[in-house]
Parts: sequence; structure tokens; C-alpha cells
Amino acid sequence: MDAPIPFNKPYFSGNETRYIEQAVRSGKISGDGQFTQRAHAYFEQHWGFRKALLTTSCTDALEMAALLLDIGPGDEVIVPAFTFVSTANAFVLRGATIVFADSTALNPNLDAAALEGLVTPRTRAVVPVHYAGIACDMAAVLAIAERHGLAVVEDAAHAIDSFYDGRRLGTLGALAAFSFHETKNIIAGEGGLLALNDLRFAQRAEIIREKGTTRSAFFRGEATEYNWVDVGSSFLPSELTAAYLWAQIENLADIQQRRTSIWDAYYAALAPLGALGVGLPELPAYATNNGHLFYLVCRDQAERDALIGHLGQRRILAVFHYRALHRSPYYAARHDGRPLPWAEHYTACLVRLPLYYELDGVAQQRVIDGVLAFYQGR
Ligand SMILES: *Cc1c(COP(=O)(O)O)cnc(C)c1O
Repeated sequence: MDAPIPFNKPYFSGNETRYIEQAVRSGKISGDGQFTQRAHAYFEQHWGFRKALLTTSCTDALEMAALLLDIGPGDEVIVPAFTFVSTANAFVLRGATIVFADSTALNPNLDAAALEGLVTPRTRAVVPVHYAGIACDMAAVLAIAERHGLAVVEDAAHAIDSFYDGRRLGTLGALAAFSFHETKNIIAGEGGLLALNDLRFAQRAEIIREKGTTRSAFFRGEATEYNWVDVGSSFLPSELTAAYLWAQIENLADIQQRRTSIWDAYYAALAPLGALGVGLPELPAYATNNGHLFYLVCRDQAERDALIGHLGQRRILAVFHYRALHRSPYYAARHDGRPLPWAEHYTACLVRLPLYYELDGVAQQRVIDGVLAFYQGR
């Protein structure tokens, strides 16, 4: 029988354990040691963030963003309904009301053309999610945000090493959150990054990340006192996490090359399904592809579920994605009742295919053959 093909397999270069051992032997394994500093310098120098701060997760980076923006009860935050729960939860934790935006027909990103209609005098922020690493229509989002004085927080969890109109994702909003969860392109088990593009947030971000204290500045010799000065929490990762991440950063170019070539091979083989009305990932002219995930949009939910079952019988794990948050058990009663047909469509019809560094040509061909066999005669 054919070996099972998992949906994801965490990338491992081999140097992760070597660097973790180095961190252990250095005698400092709490946060903000050598590997964390190397990662911060890398992201600031090569990726153009004004300031980079590693966090324990993207969820935590989003929570830091909500704290930095002083989001509170009565405030409204616009979030796509088709996203991971943390995009909304970070602001719900501060007492904000979430106003859910629908996706576009072209891809699951938020519909910027309908965004301005969601703005009220209470709106404080908008959180575009670059789904599958494909950029949202950021010119439109930024123009509306500017007109209404809204903060833009990019949920760039999928969006490492991807671009909008030549500008790196994560550099466009005042703040951006990345994820290094093991399902993402570069990983640390659990881990994240808060990117700051507005230095007005820089000092306070360090304080919030270190439990509301001046610890960071004090240990750099910049603050005379180490004291409690603001709210905060423990948002910094240990050096073990940063050491793991560093080995991934070192191999980023190779990882991206591999993932995008797998993605391209899926697209080339499955594009003919478009003629049947099956959706493929569509990149607007302003967007790049970072090979984060490859999806199909089936014609209805029964077809999607049958395709997952069909691949399962061939020992191939394909998976659906987000359940639209406006209809979730937690938020449905709090939602303003607007139907969000595209978010519901992607909830019902989207399926993701296996995509990971070690997926070889033979295994990928099995996935492609499985999908094409399913559609044979449909
Ligand atoms: C993965 C993901 C997150 C959360 O990342 P963690 O690092 O697991 O907290 C947030 N938003 C989106 C869109 C994600 O895909």
C-alpha cells in the first residue's frame, strides 16, 4: 500500500539542534539572548521593518498590537470573517467589537472595495490577512485607513517573504504580525514576530513585551531604573525558540524556492480544472506567491467533502480551512447579522493540498493524480 502523505511536515535543516545546544551551553536560555538579537537584526536589516520583536506566537504579536493601539470597549475593529480566530480574539480580549468583512470572489482576502462601508466613527483599526501569502489590495486598504484615521495591523501569519507591488508584506501597516508555528513556511514550533513600522510604538512595545517593565532598556543601560511602568505580559520567546528559528532563517531562500516550485507544479497540473468551475489560487498583478499553501475552491461543500474523502482513501491528507468567524459558536450572537457570502463559500468549498519542503515529485504526482481522478467525468 502507498505510504500516507501528510498535509504538513515541519521543515528541519539539521542545524536547529546544534543551535539549541549552543544556546544551552551559553548559559542563557531565557529571552533576548544572542539568537533573538540575530533574528531581530536580520528582520530589521533585510526585511525593512523599523523594529522587529520576536514573540511567543503570532497570536501574541496580535495581542501586543491591540495593547499598543489602546483598543478598548466601544472600539470597533474590522477583521475578515475568513481567518484564524486569533485575528479577532486579540481585539475581543480588549473588549472591542469585531466588524467582520467579507472575502473577495477572486480569493479569500478581505474585500477592500466594501471596506469603507464598514467604517463608523468608532472604528479604530483594520486587520488585513494576506491569505496564502497573497497580498490584500493594500493601496485601497491604506487609503481608506488614512482617510478615517484607522490603524492598519497586517496579519502576515502566512505572508513571510511575499510582496505587494514590490513592497514587502509586513512593512505596509503600522504594525504586522508573523507566525512561526510549525505549519508556516519558517518555523520554531510555536513562535511569532511583531514588526513595527511606526517607531512611535517602539519603546512601549518593548515594555509591554517584558511584563510592563523597563527591563529591556535597563539591561541595555538606557534606563536608570528597572520598574513596572505600564500594562504588559510575557510575550518574548526563550532562546531555545530563537535558536531553532535561526536555523530556519539561514535556509529561507532554499525553503522558498522549494515551496514555490511545488506550488507551481500543482498550479500547472490542476489549472485545467478551472474549465469545470473549480477555483484555483488567483494572484492579482500586485501580488507575489510565497508558496505558503495551495488550495482549490470546489463548486459546493458536498464536492469538497467528497474530494477530501476520495484523497483520504488514497492515504492523502487534504484539509479544509477556516470556519467563518461570524458564524462561530462564540461570535454568532455578537455579529451584526450581515450575511458574508464569500467567507461562507470558502468555509464550505476550500480545500488545501499537502505542501511541505520534503514533498517529492512522486508523492506530489500521487496527489495530482488523486485530484484529477476525482474530477474525471464530473
Ligand atoms: C497561524 C495563524 C495565526 C496564529 O499564529 P500562531 O503563531 O499560531 O499564534 C494568526 N493568523 C493567521 C491568519 C494564521 O494563519
